[in-house]
Amino acid sequence: MATMFPGADGDRRGRGGMVEYQPIPRYAARVGANQPGRQMTIGSELRNLPSVERVVNGDSLFHAVTAHGREMLVELTREVLDGARKRVLSGAAAPAGDEIAEAVLSLLAELTEPSPRPVINATGVVIHTNLGRAPLSDAALAAADAVGRGYSDLEIDLGTGRRGSRQAHLQSLLQRITGAEAALAVNNNASALLLGLSALASGREVIVSRGEAVEIGGGFRIPDVLRQSGCTLVDVGTTNRTYVRDYAEAMSEQTGAFLKAHASNFRVEGFTAFVAERDLVALGETSGVPVLHDVGSGALLPTERYGLAHEPTPQESVAAGVGLVFFSGDKLLGGPQAGIVVGKRDLVTQLERHPLARAVRIDKMSLASLAATLAHYVTGEAETRVPVWRMISATADDVRSRAQQWRATLSNNRVEACVQPARSAIGGGSLPGETLPSWTLTINAPPDRSPESVLSALRGQSTPVIARIEEDAVRLDPRTVLPEQDDAVIQALTAVMTG
Ligand SMILES: *Cc1c(COP(=O)(O)O)cnc(C)c1O
Repeated sequence: MATMFPGADGDRRGRGGMVEYQPIPRYAARVGANQPGRQMTIGSELRNLPSVERVVNGDSLFHAVTAHGREMLVELTREVLDGARKRVLSGAAAPAGDEIAEAVLSLLAELTEPSPRPVINATGVVIHTNLGRAPLSDAALAAADAVGRGYSDLEIDLGTGRRGSRQAHLQSLLQRITGAEAALAVNNNASALLLGLSALASGREVIVSRGEAVEIGGGFRIPDVLRQSGCTLVDVGTTNRTYVRDYAEAMSEQTGAFLKAHASNFRVEGFTAFVAERDLVALGETSGVPVLHDVGSGALLPTERYGLAHEPTPQESVAAGVGLVFFSGDKLLGGPQAGIVVGKRDLVTQLERHPLARAVRIDKMSLASLAATLAHYVTGEAETRVPVWRMISATADDVRSRAQQWRATLSNNRVEACVQPARSAIGGGSLPGETLPSWTLTINAPPDRSPESVLSALRGQSTPVIARIEEDAVRLDPRTVLPEQDDAVIQALTAVMTG
């Protein structure tokens, strides 16, 4: 799993090596690095460096100075000249005057380039944390655009003209979808948990099964979140088996909550037993201890419909009587980064009133696109309009015919490829080990090139393409490539393989 789909496990640091950040080499540092065969002394070479004034006043920078102002260009030129001076001091020749200007311009381009840049995800990992998780639906994007561009009724009640709550925009959507009494959206699921535990169980004990005191990725660990929330972790049972009686024995007046966390990035198989939410709810009810359930991915559609293992849904947890259910907005829900809490009204109210709620508040653009994404579920259009569900619901045959189209077009461009069966992963710390049958366009690197070098050249394209290596061949899975990106994939592959 880890080698096949690096970065798919929700680890932001990309230790798999596939999507590690590769800094664009700073031109400034390279200027004058290699000009062998010239007789020189360091002193004379230093004198050959142009002055800041001369570079900035030169023709090459005229337009840049007009557009961005002299001050900025002076600063960039200084930076480039400083770099060149250091090179000279370590023995390099002084660069020519226009080389300096060129370096200034490329430094300027680097600064003004949009970042993060859009990339094409041809890895077959649907929810790829390193690549920004869920792509948004057109309606979700339009909603964010509309409220970002101007003012909105974010916190005003248009009926009364009085102050309203930003959470009001999500209430009825989330109530309809999950059946919960109340809902709250915050920055992300990690902050939702921090808020929930702080508001309900700070200074008290929280009982967690040993099999669920997990690390979710990027160093986010349930025991740490508990500590940070001022709660004391009481772990019960064993890694593979925990029973209701384990919770019952650990319960006391000190118990603030039972916490259940979905082991979303690994699987415990074999001799296992975990307590059903319903049973824990029944136990807690005897003394008013709420059950908090972190379901993780926020699957609002049944994953088994697509031949995948069952991913716990918020709806089921609500139906089981859980006090609060926590999930992400940008995993299987397919929306923007957000953390969503649904459950009992009195508990949600306690979260809303806690000071941390302000610190982890959701912003207006995420809120708008989350509402638009949720609307797709309410209208029964999630499978056709939410990109992650379009990808998951694509059949192997759908993917295969796209790969075949790619191959045919590439063949016209004299690039040889074949179409092979493969598996796509869900990723993003959901459905561990679960894959969908898929097909890839497979490219064998020519004998003088390694598959890694092809992968790296694909990342170097104007729209970078992220592919994977399997069985020593470069593979591109059309499942995770948006339909409008087909041309860019063809262009990138043609450039890399014929360039
Ligand atoms: C992903 C995940 C989180 C963290 O969610 P973010 O939205 O990334 O903060 C928490 N718990 C579980 C079980 C998860 O899978």
